[in-house]
Amino acid sequence: MRTPRGTSEITLGGAGLAGSLLAIFLARRGYRVTLLERRLDPRKTAEPVSAGRSINLALANRGIAALEEVGVMETLRSALIPMAGRMLHDEEGRLKLVPYGNKPHEVIYSVSRAGLNTLLVNAAESTGGVSIRFGCTVHGVDFANRKVRFLTGEDPESQTTRYDVLIGTDGSASAVRAAILERTGGRLDEEPLGHSYKELTIPPATGGKFRMEKNALHIWPRGEYMLIALPNADGSFTATLFLPNQGEESFQALTTRNAVRALFERRFADAIPLMPRYVEDFFANPTGHLETIRCAPWSFEDHALVLGDAAHAIVPFHGQGMNAAFEDCSAFDQCLEVPDRPWNEVFAEFERRRRPNTDAIADMALENYIEMRSTVREPKFQLKKDLSFRLEERHPGRFIPRYSMVMFHTIPYAEAERRGAIQEEILDELTSKAASLDQVDLARADRLIAERLGTQASEAETRS
Ligand SMILES: Cc1cc2nc3c(=O)[nH]c(=O)nc-3n(C[C@H](O)[C@H](O)[C@H](O)COP(=O)(O)OP(=O)(O)OC[C@H]3O[C@@H](n4cnc5c(N)ncnc54)[C@H](O)[C@@H]3O)c2cc1C
Repeated sequence: MRTPRGTSEITLGGAGLAGSLLAIFLARRGYRVTLLERRLDPRKTAEPVSAGRSINLALANRGIAALEEVGVMETLRSALIPMAGRMLHDEEGRLKLVPYGNKPHEVIYSVSRAGLNTLLVNAAESTGGVSIRFGCTVHGVDFANRKVRFLTGEDPESQTTRYDVLIGTDGSASAVRAAILERTGGRLDEEPLGHSYKELTIPPATGGKFRMEKNALHIWPRGEYMLIALPNADGSFTATLFLPNQGEESFQALTTRNAVRALFERRFADAIPLMPRYVEDFFANPTGHLETIRCAPWSFEDHALVLGDAAHAIVPFHGQGMNAAFEDCSAFDQCLEVPDRPWNEVFAEFERRRRPNTDAIADMALENYIEMRSTVREPKFQLKKDLSFRLEERHPGRFIPRYSMVMFHTIPYAEAERRGAIQEEILDELTSKAASLDQVDLARADRLIAERLGTQASEAETRS
């Protein structure tokens, strides 16, 4: 049985966000890493890294912690745009900023997917231990002979390359995952959301100025659906329209320019002047599909593992898919600390640590869609948010709003979900008869917290 110490080469399928970061972690441990990436080298072609994916992403604490471990945060920092809260746009065009956190440093950051991917690819190559073969699409694995099958653009014939250890970081439609599940008779669980998304552009104003508040994630919550917008470094925003696939107000119904215009005039009137080409964008840009993917097992013997979206793709509403994938890379690196542990045990340990947590963030991401598109509009939501900040001040380290546990801490996701459910009950009980913060019985709050949240949440603050 091979062990990490007895292996010098690792092959990764996919040089996206997880693959390029994992390559850096592995090179730091002395492995030679080969990445097989379907796309052409983004540094040499016009093909955008984000084609068919979001143009920008929200980066939060977990992702930052992993990037700091490999020393790339300092280079990245100047490219980040802090977002301090949600800027809600109601149907009358009124604005309201709802802060994400309770402390000045509790912000999330908008980052360009292409920029971050290129930075990671450059950092991986500069380790001297990583080589990237662009234009190679993995389409199968010959486990008996430890070979990966792949196609290159020019050649219709399938090629193979030998691997010692293979890790699939090839995203939500992973070919490595398909091979592992076929070989093991494993289980693939694909849960479509029933809603899809479309990206639209809010260009910069004259002089490269932002047309709206730059340091916020803008949301137009409309109950069943929503529009959001994240800032880009060039003064533009990338807006994303999330809509049901079917129904009266849905992608299925928006087949003509008039139908698109009518929906925007009815529900997003204040966004129209910001988006001079929204109708053209709507028909030019692809409609992105959204689903939650769970699979088991994540590995096959001492051969292969999947990590990142390839193992657990989630819906984007908590802004955590990339953050979770980066946390995976750091957790996998920790699993390599025992050098004589056989690979199959490394893989099993990784899955044991990560699965409960990635299952938890998958659930919380689904719940957050309802919060973003609907609950944020309710007065009760604001009251609970204000109360949870007050309780965090009264019980630091013990009562931490769930959103903050996920975004601003490294408390394992499963622990954040568990504590979050207890806190939600406490908030419900305290606000059932209160219309404002001064009507809440804080002495009762203190008792409930002592009874039900005995331990410090921050004690769990180790990466999992
Ligand atoms: C609309 C949207 C918004 C999002 N917003 C956020 C956000 O704000 N914050 C956040 O944390 N996450 C967000 N996510 C999730 C995030 O994009 C993913 O979780 C993240 O990209 C996962 O990284 P990955 O490397 O596992 O997969 P990917 O980034 O998909 O990378 C996979 C790589 O493998 C390559 N590849 C695919 N198939 C093959 C093959 N057969 N052979 C070789 N190479 C292959 C691809 O070209 C790609 O380079 C969002 C997702 C979407 C769809």
